[in-house]
Amino acid sequence: MMRLPPFRYRAPRTIADAVAWLAEGPGQTMILAGGTDLLPNMKRRQQTPSTLIGLRGLRDQLAAIRNGAGLSIGAGVTLAELMASAHVQDGYRGLWQAAAQVATPQLRNMATIGGNLCLDTRCTYYDQTFEWRKAIDFCMKKDGDTCWVATSSPKCLAVSSTDTAPMLQALGATVTLVSARGSRELALGDLYANDGMHYLTKQRDELLTSIAVPDARGWRSAYWKLRRRGSFDFPVAAAAVAVQFDGPRAIAARIVLGAVSSKPQQSDRAAELLIGHELSDEAISAAAVAASELAKPMDNTDFELVWRKKMVTSLVGDALREVRGDDMRARRRQLAKQELLVPVQRA
Ligand SMILES: Cc1cc2nc3c(=O)[nH]c(=O)nc-3n(C[C@H](O)[C@H](O)[C@H](O)COP(=O)(O)OP(=O)(O)OC[C@H]3O[C@@H](n4cnc5c(N)ncnc54)[C@H](O)[C@@H]3O)c2cc1C
Ligand code: SF4
Repeated sequence: MMRLPPFRYRAPRTIADAVAWLAEGPGQTMILAGGTDLLPNMKRRQQTPSTLIGLRGLRDQLAAIRNGAGLSIGAGVTLAELMASAHVQDGYRGLWQAAAQVATPQLRNMATIGGNLCLDTRCTYYDQTFEWRKAIDFCMKKDGDTCWVATSSPKCLAVSSTDTAPMLQALGATVTLVSARGSRELALGDLYANDGMHYLTKQRDELLTSIAVPDARGWRSAYWKLRRRGSFDFPVAAAAVAVQFDGPRAIAARIVLGAVSSKPQQSDRAAELLIGHELSDEAISAAAVAASELAKPMDNTDFELVWRKKMVTSLVGDALREVRGDDMRARRRQLAKQELLVPVQRA
């Protein structure tokens, strides 16, 4: 049995205390939300903070979902709560789909949206026990010097594996970060860097407190994800699309790929191919091919990398056909039979 290493646990009752304590030792302190990723990582000694700041005592400050001119989601909202929200079910279909495909129901009861957005990047050579990693002399991301995926690479190529980040980015979300120095807002896309080790631009003393999603009236969204097991698995490629319609014509669009590099990748070129047009089969194919050009999968996750890149075209195409209004249930069932996708039930 893997055991947690010793650590100091601090339980703030206010956001001010949480960020003041974070500022005391940001290099050795980490935030603990649901713990569904951090605690297993600590057991495998991938992450070894000496202090954890638990967010449980801040639930009344971090766990609200409000709908006004857009949606405001507290970072401590669990994925199960997000899925249960009528606002999300009614107006932000792609977000519901992305949350519904994270992990398992038990994990979604614990897992928070803030933790999902700050999720560590993943790699075959890293998501292993301490002994396994020691046997290969570790790797650059933790305790070693070499990247075993590309030995000449100066940076880590671990994969962004969060499901909700690409979808929230496609919906135009912004996040609020609070520290002892004050607070700032930034576009969700700017929270990420294409570097498997330093994958967040957030400073270590900053707490993510909330996510704001613009009013989605007139928009339709969808999230399609490739994974080995339909019941639960991290994404190995994903497509998040959001399209604003005026009648049958697209007047704005965002297409963001997940799990194809160290950060979610937004294809403005693919989106431009849709704007001003009806979503014909030809327009969808052109946008899907353009988006897939951004996918640079490496040999460090499940499935063969050339096939994963090909699947990106298919995922983007299916997501766009869904927002066009096609009935995709048969397609989902067909892919589920091949154990590529789990059918996402209606909310
Ligand atoms: C079996 C299994 C399957 C999984 N499958 C998936 C999957 O399919 N898709 C997927 O996306 N994830 C998956 N996960 C990972 C994880 O369960 C989710 O990403 C979850 O949403 C993480 O949230 P959490 O609250 O548990 O985060 P934690 O584990 O508590 O934290 C994760 C990271 O975020 C940081 N953090 C948390 N909250 C904040 C905050 N408010 N401000 C700043 N930093 C913060 C933590 O310090 C840590 O670095 C899986 C996990 C397991 C164990
Ligand atoms: S991409 Fe390279 S450095 Fe990063 S976790 Fe994998 S093997 Fe390690």
